[in-house]
Amino acid sequence: MCDAIMPDNEPDDLIIRATAFDDAVRAFACRTTRTCREAARLHGLSPSAAAAMGRLLSGVLMLAQDLDKPGDTVTAVIQSDGPIQGMTVIGEHDATVRGSILEPVVETRYKARGKLDVGSAVGKGTLTVIRDQQLKEPYVGRIALVSGEIAEDLASYLAISEQIPSLVSLGVKMTREGISHAGGLMLQLLPDADETVIQALERQLETFPDMTTLLESGATPEEMLRLLTGPGGLDIHSQTRCAYACHCNRERMARNLIAMGQDEINQLAEDPDGIELQCHFCASRYVFSQADVRQLLAAIPAGDG
Ligand SMILES: [Zn+2]
Repeated sequence: MCDAIMPDNEPDDLIIRATAFDDAVRAFACRTTRTCREAARLHGLSPSAAAAMGRLLSGVLMLAQDLDKPGDTVTAVIQSDGPIQGMTVIGEHDATVRGSILEPVVETRYKARGKLDVGSAVGKGTLTVIRDQQLKEPYVGRIALVSGEIAEDLASYLAISEQIPSLVSLGVKMTREGISHAGGLMLQLLPDADETVIQALERQLETFPDMTTLLESGATPEEMLRLLTGPGGLDIHSQTRCAYACHCNRERMARNLIAMGQDEINQLAEDPDGIELQCHFCASRYVFSQADVRQLLAAIPAGDG
C-alpha cells in the first residue's frame, strides 16, 4: 500500500551478498538512497532523524539477507532517551524494509563540519533484534547501545548476541535538498577466519574511506566491497533490488484493532463516525465504519480482551 517511488535519475537501490577470503568472511553491501528518501518523505523526517533511520534501514536490510523464506522477518527496535526516543525497522526476505520513529522532527546538531551528530539524536538506550523465521520461537537479542551511531550498535549486537565478530559501516549523506546518498556494508567473520584474515582486513581498513565519502564518489555496492576485501577477493552470491515497502492491508489492520481488546473496541464501537487507523510504517489510512467495528467486536469470543 506504499506510494510509488517517484521516478528520477537515481539508480535502483541494490543489495549484494558475497563471501571473501575463501568463504571465511561473509560480506554484504547496499545502496539505499531511494529507500531512505522514501522513509524521510513518508515520516517527514528532519535531517538527524533521517540519518538515524536511514542507517538502521540499511543495516536491517543487510541483516535480513539471512532470511530464507517469505514471511521471515528481522525487526530492530531502538528504545532510547535521545530526542528521537526510538525507532522500529522491519526487514523482509524479499529485500524490502520499513520503519517507524517516535519523534520524526528533532534538532539538527553536527559533530564536525557537515557531519550530523546521530549519536546524540538517538541517545542512550537499548537495541533489540528479533529474528522471526516462523519455525519456532523468534530469536531475540538485546544489547545496550554503544554510541547511538547505529553502525557500532549493530556490530556490537552481532558480536555479543550472535557471537559473530563484525564490521559495520553505514552512511546517509544529507544536503540542503535532502538525502543525496545512502548505503552501507557489513562484514561478518566466520569461524574459519584466522589471524591472517583479520590482519589483512585491518590493513585494508587503514586506507578505507569514510562511508559517505565512498557513496558520494559513486561507488557501487560491489566496488565498495572489492575495495574493502582487496586481496581477499570477492565471490558474489546475489544482487537484489531493495526498497522501502510496507505490507499492511485492511485485514492486518483489523487484526491490530482486535488485539486492542474487547473493552477498548466496545468504546470505539460507540462512535457513530467509526474510526480511522493509520499505519505507522507507510501512513496508509484505513477507515472502519461503526458497523465494521461492531462486526469485529462480534467476532471476538466472549471473555477475550
Ligand atoms: Zn503500511
